[in-house]
Amino acid sequence: MPALEDIIQQRLAALNARHLRRVPQPAVRGPGARVKRAGRELVSFGCNDYLGLSRHPRVIAAAQDATGRYGAGAGASRLITGEHPLYAELESRLARWHEAPAACVFGSGYLANLGAITALIGGDDLIVADKLAHACMIDGARLSGARFRRFAHNDTAHLARLLERERASYANCLIVSEAVFSMDGDRAPVAELAALAERYDAWLLIDAAHDVHAPASAAPRREWAQGHVLIGTLSKALGAYGGYVCGSQALIDYLKTSARALMFTTGLPPGVLAAAAEALDILAESPALCARPLSHARLFTRRLGMPEAHSAIVPVMIGEAAAALALSEALAADGILASAIRPPTVPPGTARLRFAFSAAHAQADIRRAADVLAARMPDAFGPRAVSPSPALRERRPLPAGES
Ligand SMILES: *Cc1c(COP(=O)(O)O)cnc(C)c1O
Repeated sequence: MPALEDIIQQRLAALNARHLRRVPQPAVRGPGARVKRAGRELVSFGCNDYLGLSRHPRVIAAAQDATGRYGAGAGASRLITGEHPLYAELESRLARWHEAPAACVFGSGYLANLGAITALIGGDDLIVADKLAHACMIDGARLSGARFRRFAHNDTAHLARLLERERASYANCLIVSEAVFSMDGDRAPVAELAALAERYDAWLLIDAAHDVHAPASAAPRREWAQGHVLIGTLSKALGAYGGYVCGSQALIDYLKTSARALMFTTGLPPGVLAAAAEALDILAESPALCARPLSHARLFTRRLGMPEAHSAIVPVMIGEAAAALALSEALAADGILASAIRPPTVPPGTARLRFAFSAAHAQADIRRAADVLAARMPDAFGPRAVSPSPALRERRPLPAGES
């Protein structure tokens, strides 16, 4: 029998050969969306700290104060020793922000999806997910034991056909999608999904991890009590750590007594809860700050002649993993950090660079990133652009007269 060591070495070698191995690089984030890596300072477009709040003095002070008063860790699950009152404060702020009846905080966005999905559906049920739904929803669906089907990305006609064919065979049905798709930056047609949920007696779960600072797009198009479940994260625009579910009071009460991803894990540290609550106060006070990631993304897409950004996330489609990695490294040499996103995060053949825009970016940095990218991809973004790959062509139709 081969030793564990041999099997692992073979697996790592196979990943290397396909340019799919991931190795975390030491990096330290600084102000102005700067990152120090291997002794060099880069402007980072790889971070989801959309409002720069992880470094906001008020957020840091709130974390320090709560840590000083209450200690570094929670000590046990929320349900064992009792939860810190900061939980109730944060949950009521989250509910208010999303105009929801109630909210429940989890250890992370990943755990919120896992916990909510597995608490709501089981072996007799059907879950139907957008093809590009985030891995944590896929994992939740698998763990639930429900029949798991996927519909083509944002294709509500395909979803309707699936529901028409399969819905009647299952007790309960959950439709899942994302407010803003994490690797594509486009948006789900939430109103149409809600209408289909209504017609086929299904519940609708929308993961708004990348849209916490602009919550309207994930807002329910019907009553929360009819089965609208909203997932968010404290780890991106809120600059802290953790995740949450918003929904009806009954849903939240039920999750607190049955979601295993909440029951069997330690509560969040007080400093994290206080930081997220302070960040939410800043969001509520600062509509102009919340609008800036999108306007920064649009500055970038305009400069490159790409279709206008729908969100703070702009993918530049490359195709093969090796090419995406090489371009990412070339940009790093020019002082720009844009991560290469490869399978299995995205489907094979759709490797890309993902640019995430933050309020913390300076406009000059964004213009420079666009210009550096255009210089590295003259076929795609030069004055006589010819799209180099089918994947890119799909994203960026050539202007009339150019071919
Ligand atoms: C990042 C992300 C999550 C996970 O949130 P964490 O708080 O980082 O665990 C969940 N869903 C989507 C769509 C995400 O992009």
